[in-house]
Formats: sequence, C-alpha cells, structure tokens
Amino acid sequence: MQKALNLFQRIASDLLEDEKKNPVSDYIPVQELYQQIDLALRENPISEQEFESVLREVVFASPRTATPAFFNQLFGGRNETAVLGELLSVLLNNSMYTYKAAGAAVGVEKAVLREVCNTIGWDSGSDGTFASGGSLTNFMAMIMARDTTLSDVKNRGMHAPMTVYTSEESHYSIPKNAAFCGIGRDQVRYISTDNYGRMIPEELERQIENDIQEGYIPTLLNLTAGTTVLGAFDSITDLLPIAKKYNIWTHVDGAYCGSVIFSHKYKHLIGGIKGVDSFSFNAHKMIGTPLTCSLLLVKNKASLYQSFSNEASYLYQTEGDEFNPGQTSLQCGRRNDALKFWALWKSVGTKGLEKIVDKQFALADEARAYVRNHPDYKLHSFDDSISICFSYKDFDAKTLCKELYEQNTLLVSYGEGKTKDFVRMVTINAQNESSDILDFFNSLEQFVQDKTSYQEKAKSIT
Ligand SMILES: *Cc1c(COP(=O)(O)O)cnc(C)c1O
Repeated sequence: MQKALNLFQRIASDLLEDEKKNPVSDYIPVQELYQQIDLALRENPISEQEFESVLREVVFASPRTATPAFFNQLFGGRNETAVLGELLSVLLNNSMYTYKAAGAAVGVEKAVLREVCNTIGWDSGSDGTFASGGSLTNFMAMIMARDTTLSDVKNRGMHAPMTVYTSEESHYSIPKNAAFCGIGRDQVRYISTDNYGRMIPEELERQIENDIQEGYIPTLLNLTAGTTVLGAFDSITDLLPIAKKYNIWTHVDGAYCGSVIFSHKYKHLIGGIKGVDSFSFNAHKMIGTPLTCSLLLVKNKASLYQSFSNEASYLYQTEGDEFNPGQTSLQCGRRNDALKFWALWKSVGTKGLEKIVDKQFALADEARAYVRNHPDYKLHSFDDSISICFSYKDFDAKTLCKELYEQNTLLVSYGEGKTKDFVRMVTINAQNESSDILDFFNSLEQFVQDKTSYQEKAKSIT
C-alpha cells in the first residue's frame, strides 16, 4: 500500500503544480480519445513505468474542476479538509449498513444528520440518511410521499392514479423518479413559474383542484431551493399551506442551494423549512465537499423506516435499528459519504460553513455588478442567487460556451431562458476570489476579441 500511496503523492503533487499554470486541461475530441491515450485493456500486465505513465495521462487529461476556470457545473473547487476526509473513507472502506461494519463512521453520520435536523429546528423524532446523489434523495422523498399517501402501494403495487407537483424550472430527476416509483411521468404536473423562476401558488392550487376533480390523488409537492438554471427559490411560506390544505407531502429539493440553511444572512431563502416533510441538499455543491455528499432529512423518521427497512437476518445481527443505518437507506452496501462533510464541519465549525455559503453570494453579487455595469452585457438572472445568467453583445450563448471549451479557455455552460439562451456562470467555488471573477469576464472578452480580429483578418485576405 505504501508504494501506491507514494505514487498517488507524486501524481497528485504534479497535478496541483500543473493546475496553477494550466487551469484548463487540453480538450480532446472524443474521436481522438482512444488514439491519444492507450485506454484499452489487455490480457497481459504492463510494466510499472508504463502504468505510471498511462495513469498520469488520464489524470492530466481530465477536466479540472477545482481551478478558477471551471464555472460549468453546480460544483467546483477543492476543499482540502473535505478531501482529506474522503481519502480516509476510501482507505477505511467501511460500508454504512451496520454498526458492526462501520463502527465510528455510523456515529459520524448520525452526528451530521442530527446537527442538520437541529439547524432546521426539528426535534428528536426527525432523522435522515445519505444517498449517492440529489436525484436519489429526491427519489427517496417521492417514495415516502407515495407510501404515506397510500400505505399499501409498496405491497400491492400501484393501483391508484397519483400526481406530483413541481415547477417547470425544477430538476429532471422528478419525472425520472415518477417513472421509477410507478407514479408515471404523465402524472407529473409542471407548475408555471413567475419571472423570477418561482412556482406560482395560484397555479399550483388550480392544478390540484383540477386533478382531484378528475380522480387523481395528489401525492407530492416538490419545491426547489436553487433551480438549476436561474438559482431561484420557490417560496415555502406561500406554497406549503396549499400542500397542507390538501394533505400533500412536501419535499424541498435543495440539492443546489439548500446549504443556505447554514447562513444567517441567506437562510430566509428557505424560510418555512421547518414545516416541510423532507428536505435534501448536496454538500458537494455549495459546501464544496468532493462528490457525492447528498443528505436527506425527514421530519418524521418513521417514514424512513416505513419505506426503506427490510428484514435481513444475515445482515442485521447486532445493535438496534438506531445504529444500523441500512434500515433507512436506499442501498445495501453504501460508502461513507459523511466523513468528508463531518471532517470539514468539525474543523471549521458551523461558522465556517456559513462563511463558505456567504462567500458564494458575495462573489455572485460582484459578478452581477460587473454584468450590470458593462453595456456589452445583459443580465437574465436575479439577486439572491449564485447563478449569474447573461448574454454578451449578440453572441450566441451555445456557440460561445462550446468554443471557450474547445479552445481550452473556460468551462462554463449555457441555459435556455424563456425567450433567449444565455451563459450561466456559477460562483459555487468558495475558494475563488474577486480577481477570479474579473478574470472570468476578461478571458471571455479577450477570447471574443481575438476571435473577431482573426475572422476579420481572414476576410481581408480572401
Ligand atoms: C444537482 C441537482 C440535483 C441532482 O443532484 P445529483 O447529485 O447530481 O444527482 C437535483 N436537484 C437540483 C435542484 C440540482 O441542482
């Protein structure tokens, strides 16, 4: 093992050095991937040198998500304390179903879940779990909603038409999950949003009334805390009373921005969270832990047992259910995703988590100010969001993002707005500084300028 660790250390150090000089790895067109790197697997072993060299090639060719040139996804950066926690959980290789197999790691996970529940304001009747992504924590919430609404579905199978309500701006895991759990994609109601990307309460209520009249059973209201494009927050205080009136399970999908719960300044964006039935967020997004670190919190822990526990005498042999978290999880074997979050939280305190969240909003404010103050830009998103959507001059956003990527300049993606596509940058990397935000805009402007002068030159030659 020492030898492998030494190799890791060498490659990691070289990568970190190289990232400083080259924040973007060289773009490899897919057609050339297998020619550029020998990825094929063969019958015979290769030498140690060959192995190290091909390993390096893979590592150095991989997209760099921790540098100040990566604004492409709803994660980014590299928090060293969280990485340390992750490396240790890989080394320990515990599986989180039982205390017997995971020991202290179960305590670590429970401590994280307990403190998040306390932060929400929930009592000891609440609990939670980790799953391998926000799509799956949303899935678990939908299953609990289904089983709470019609408790015999899990045994008999689906036998009544159920409906799910979510905004038209919500994440695509909602229709997928509706298909997985038998509710069906056609029974997902996409409620219109206002100009800020937030679900319109009157539209929700109208749709529910309509469905009841047609014989459907309203089952789940999914609210989004940080929509994937605009970073908008559905208003819990406006929408929850409607769900309560019709006895519908309310879940808040905070995969992107639910971590505002740690910020005094921004937790008002999920005001009313204490009243919902379940809440999920990805610590691998705003908090900046490595992928994946997805938490699901449930106000009434009986719902978790009702939907996810199963007898298994070969597995659950010691301790009670409380310390055998396999009784409340989607998976059987499950990696220890809690340790990285716990390590970070333990070392910086809740105050440190708050700083991480606040920093992202501060960077977003700076980015928005830049866009607002420069006449070549137009802003398409709004305050209180860490997604900054803009257009630059009259450049097509899709083409611009593609060219920036293929020419190793910046990784940023586009969003499709109601009327126009735009570039969507996200200030999710709390390790970035103001200068990195300025550099982003400068690189983009320089890129466009170089491209334009090149095209003009080409034109004058022909
Ligand atoms: C990222 C995201 C998800 C999905 O989370 P994964 O961990 O990528 O599966 C779900 N909902 C929202 C709002 C998200 O931003």
